[in-house]
Amino acid sequence: MKQLEIAVIPGDGIGKEVVPAALDVLRTIAEVHGGLQFTFVEFPWSCDYYMEHGKMMPDDGLQILQGFAAIFLGAVGNPKLVPDHISLWGLLLKIRREFEQVINIRPAKFFRGLQSPLANPNDFDFIVVRENSEGEYSEIGGRIHRGDDEIAIQNAVFTRKGTERAMRYAFELAKKRKRHVTSATKSNGIFHTMPFWDEVFAQVKQDYPEVQTDSYHIDALAAFFVTKPHLFDVVVASNLFGDILTDLGGAIMGSIGIAPAANINLNGKYPSMFEPVHGSAPDIYGKGIANPIGQIWTAKLMLDHFGEDELGSVLLKTIEDVTADGIKTPDIGGKATTREVTDEICRRLRQLA
Ligand code: ATP
Ligand code: MG
Repeated sequence: MKQLEIAVIPGDGIGKEVVPAALDVLRTIAEVHGGLQFTFVEFPWSCDYYMEHGKMMPDDGLQILQGFAAIFLGAVGNPKLVPDHISLWGLLLKIRREFEQVINIRPAKFFRGLQSPLANPNDFDFIVVRENSEGEYSEIGGRIHRGDDEIAIQNAVFTRKGTERAMRYAFELAKKRKRHVTSATKSNGIFHTMPFWDEVFAQVKQDYPEVQTDSYHIDALAAFFVTKPHLFDVVVASNLFGDILTDLGGAIMGSIGIAPAANINLNGKYPSMFEPVHGSAPDIYGKGIANPIGQIWTAKLMLDHFGEDELGSVLLKTIEDVTADGIKTPDIGGKATTREVTDEICRRLRQLA
């Protein structure tokens, strides 16, 4: 019996609606599977918690989380109560940074039953692996005054270790998929860091002769996400390029409410964190109509992370079947509630037993 202790942080807004939904799905999977057991320990850390305690989580919050196999998070943020920079840095970004979650992954695929904004979406299915700890988002730089002008300088920092581990992660992932990795570069315009990026990519790919590769400049690559998204399997990108590409990947699927994500720790010292792309959506909170698919697909990424890829695939197919059969929340053109979608997914999972 595989036993997994998961720290659960529903957070704010619809996080409090979609997390319980996804936990029901995970419990159903454990029930159907037999060899898997989850223990969920819930923490109320959120903007409401901040209003009571003056902080987003207790001072020993990270120590508490450290012992868990993974962190399963809903959404953080309620700008009416707490400014976003406080709520994000007090919880989400703190965990990402302190737990060395150096990789962010976001899948995007053509989802049956969804309206993609692409005229001809074909059958795309790819994952963007984003370097999550360095690159363009560095604190190095500053401002200088010269004559009557003011100059802002921002340095991008690419370490060989950081670049290489992101690329290796992408290649390992590709080995389990269609064995293809695309590198997002811009070495025709960025003078130092991107030629370095290309060099590390060329070196890492030597170790994976079974994986096909190609490399596109970020501008062309972004256009191909729209015109030829079926070209891609795994895309590896720096922090900034990955940030842009992952939002675009979500957009071509057709709804932010279904997009999943994971923040991966690679050194095994700390847990990884699984959270959907969408935020707390205060505009629909409390109505029972939040789309639970982003959170449930995120649970699938967690299953993959624990080596339960087969279960993960069954879950994804089940979600897609339910969507294709029209059992959908209003954001994707249906009339169903969060509960109805969740119950239908659980019902079909039980039928597979
Ligand atoms: P944040 O700053 O936390 O990212 P945001 O308001 O910028 O918050 P979201 O909370 O993701 O972004 O919401 C953007 C829009 O998408 C809102 O109109 C929201 O209602 C809608 N939305 C987001 N997630 C879902 C979901 N799971 N189901 C239905 N609608 C959603
Ligand atoms: Mg937002």
